Amino acid sequence: MKPPQYKRVLLKLSGEALMGDQGFGISSDVIKYVAEEIRSIFDLGIQIAIVVGGGNIFRGIAASSFGMDRTSADHMGMLATVINSLALQDALEKKDVPTRIQTAITIHEVAEPYILRKAIRHLEKGRVVIFAAGTGNPYFTTDTAAVLRAQEIHAEILLKATKVNGLYDSDPVINKDAGFLKNVTYMEVLEKQLKVMDMTAISLAMDNHLPLAIFNLRDKGNIEKVICGEDIGTRIFN
Ligand code: UDP
Repeated sequence: MKPPQYKRVLLKLSGEALMGDQGFGISSDVIKYVAEEIRSIFDLGIQIAIVVGGGNIFRGIAASSFGMDRTSADHMGMLATVINSLALQDALEKKDVPTRIQTAITIHEVAEPYILRKAIRHLEKGRVVIFAAGTGNPYFTTDTAAVLRAQEIHAEILLKATKVNGLYDSDPVINKDAGFLKNVTYMEVLEKQLKVMDMTAISLAMDNHLPLAIFNLRDKGNIEKVICGEDIGTRIFN
């Protein structure tokens, strides 16, 4: 394998990535696996920041559809990301990967508040930084938080680890003939409404020229392969 192509990356893990096939919550086997995958790039000396979603526990938009106030529901969703972040921190530290959580909604007794300069310092000292509670604002997603934090810390690439191999021109579960897209521009994603991230996240990434790699987290070694420049998954760029 080639040497690492990046020094600082932001990894986006959806909440669903932590639940495995159990349908809800956190799978202990899956979180151990994810921690091991992250350790493999940590051992390469990469600076790693992570944004974790909360969809395995609570999604604001789903609750608001049955009548709950959207802002309260989104606050619950953001707290779900804190739960996932604590689980991931525990799993990483069990594998001797020093980790700090910073939250966009302050919960001083549980984690540090989000302070950019402090986050950079942690990264420089070789600590993985998990950004929890999304952007801290309702009506946003953790994908948008991932793009935002990637810009703020000057990550060279956003790595979106998913359940599928990358991006298709239609849903591969419904359409057997769905075509795999290897290299795509942000403009194509917007024009064809390809389902990668929500539009806010896509436009923010496009405006700021942030490259995005999408790949399957379930195939062991994939995070390392992307870091080392192997041609897997889908790349999105300007
Ligand atoms: N959320 C929010 N603001 C943010 C990020 C997340 O309000 O900046 C809430 C929102 O309710 C969302 C939930 O947190 O549904 C979980 O995040 P997301 O759906 O992005 O998680 P994922 O799909 O990645 O598991």
